[in-house]
Amino acid sequence: MAIKINDIPPEGLTVELAHKLDLFDNGVASTAFTAVLSFKPSGAGLFHVAGRIQAEPLLECSRCLKTFPYRIDAEVSVELAPASAVESSTDHELDRSELDTEFYQGEELEPAALIKEQLLIAVPMVPLHDVNCKGLCPVCGKDLNEAGCDCTRDDQGVFGAFSVLKDIFKK
Ligand SMILES: [Zn+2]
Ligand SMILES: [Zn+2]
Repeated sequence: MAIKINDIPPEGLTVELAHKLDLFDNGVASTAFTAVLSFKPSGAGLFHVAGRIQAEPLLECSRCLKTFPYRIDAEVSVELAPASAVESSTDHELDRSELDTEFYQGEELEPAALIKEQLLIAVPMVPLHDVNCKGLCPVCGKDLNEAGCDCTRDDQGVFGAFSVLKDIFKK
């Protein structure tokens, strides 16, 4: 997937990519994505990367633990800088604008790392398969989206496991 820097003309180069990557580092490149990215040289080895990445990784619902496809359609606008630029500047400090800067090494640009990072940013911290997901019963573990159960639950499900203990002590 690498792009040779020498192949990028001054007016820039647009590439279309369709591949799979290991988004969550679990050893399987299971997340298919498509990307259209343009790499435009902006001098001193810097490139401006703009475009769009689409993917549909499988996420686990944080309430009911069901796996569901999550649609990502992300606009990308980042700077690519040679890694040597960081090493050579001694008074380097990370300022706000550099958070959108990615680094590359050698004579090739490797879009995979950039794409992976942009996808991870787009993944929600607390994935929900549905905003109204009822989750699992903290007492019996039943998926409350499918059926109710007769357990007595605290409203704060956190204490559910504790109420099981109480029942045991009562016996
Ligand atoms: Zn759910
Ligand atoms: Zn229950």
